[in-house]
Amino acid sequence: MLQLKDLIQGRLSKTARQTDLEDVDLRKARRKLRNILKQALNDEIPTIEELSILFSAQGHEIHLLGQVADVIRERQVGSTITYVVNRNINFTNVCSNNCLFCAYSVPPDSKDGYFDISIENFRKKIEKTYPYQITEVCVQGGIHPALNFDTYIEILQNLKGIDPTLHIHAFSPQEITHAANSIEEDVEEVLREFKKHGLGSIPGTAAEILDDNVRKAICPHKLSSAEWIHTIELCHQLGIPTTATILFGHIEGSHHWVRHLSILRMIQEKTHGFTEFIPLPFIAENTQLKQKHSFHKLSNLDYIKFYAVSRLFLGDLFKNIQTSWVKLGFPMAQITLKAGCNDFGGTLFEENITRSAGGVFGQIATPEKFQMSIHRLQRTSCERGTLYNLLC
Ligand code: SF4
Repeated sequence: MLQLKDLIQGRLSKTARQTDLEDVDLRKARRKLRNILKQALNDEIPTIEELSILFSAQGHEIHLLGQVADVIRERQVGSTITYVVNRNINFTNVCSNNCLFCAYSVPPDSKDGYFDISIENFRKKIEKTYPYQITEVCVQGGIHPALNFDTYIEILQNLKGIDPTLHIHAFSPQEITHAANSIEEDVEEVLREFKKHGLGSIPGTAAEILDDNVRKAICPHKLSSAEWIHTIELCHQLGIPTTATILFGHIEGSHHWVRHLSILRMIQEKTHGFTEFIPLPFIAENTQLKQKHSFHKLSNLDYIKFYAVSRLFLGDLFKNIQTSWVKLGFPMAQITLKAGCNDFGGTLFEENITRSAGGVFGQIATPEKFQMSIHRLQRTSCERGTLYNLLC
């Protein structure tokens, strides 16, 4: 096992060397933080109290944190960086929820609203991805008043009708709860039916920050933290994998991050149903949240810190930590892939949500772009399926 003294004296593995760990000198970190990093290098998981200390890292400490996270990533999941060739389908932008951080949705009476769950629309969208062969469709929409249990089933049937081999990664816990409410049925029954009709996995979106006070301020009409946790645990019990997400960098504090990550860890210890953790930096530009609340915008160093701490705290249970090229751009995403992340995310082909909020990094990433960026990091690239089955 790589020892601390090896780090300091430069006796490093090839991959560690690529991260310039020769420069690591943990003595430059505060004593408490240094001890936590030492323990992490001995495969000890930080406690909740230690998690708060990690999140308090500043300046050079964050570089050290990133380098330690990179060593741990190598140990836990190796040097391969994965990506998925998928297609986003946002079938409606109409939503009655009006979350303050969302610039994508419009209210039900808006003339800018659209709603199309027809097989022709889905086929056209999937055909636009040629010559690439997608393995996944990622399907999410607003909470349109016309949506109910039957319309969600229709979506699944239409997609399966186009290509039964496609993995359908669809419907956030918010949409699942809406489907259940529409027929006054248990979430569990709804999930069973969706699975029967081809639902392969669920995006763990709508988690935002798992704290009801924060939720009241940023998404008052959304499901509660307890409902999100309940829906996710039911999915896992029924053999429907999900991702885990957090929307960070708005009105919340680092104590909310600690709580959120602790909840995710507790769920995963119980169910092992999460495929990956996807931290999502908040893009504020066009949102109501930016107009109504003042908050401190996170820096690139803060982003590195968040991804690195996620690896230290969750990496033994969440092998896969996904960066976000959509939110961060490719150069910054590459840096996070040297600070704990191991997955680049998806090709998307039509990214709408972040672009509406003011994101400027595009709507598509081709497989070639992923491969080139990964090779520049001197790492191995590999296409994966939704559930991390390797396709290379
Ligand atoms: Fe609606 Fe989702 Fe946007 Fe909230 S985040 S307003 S639920 S589309």
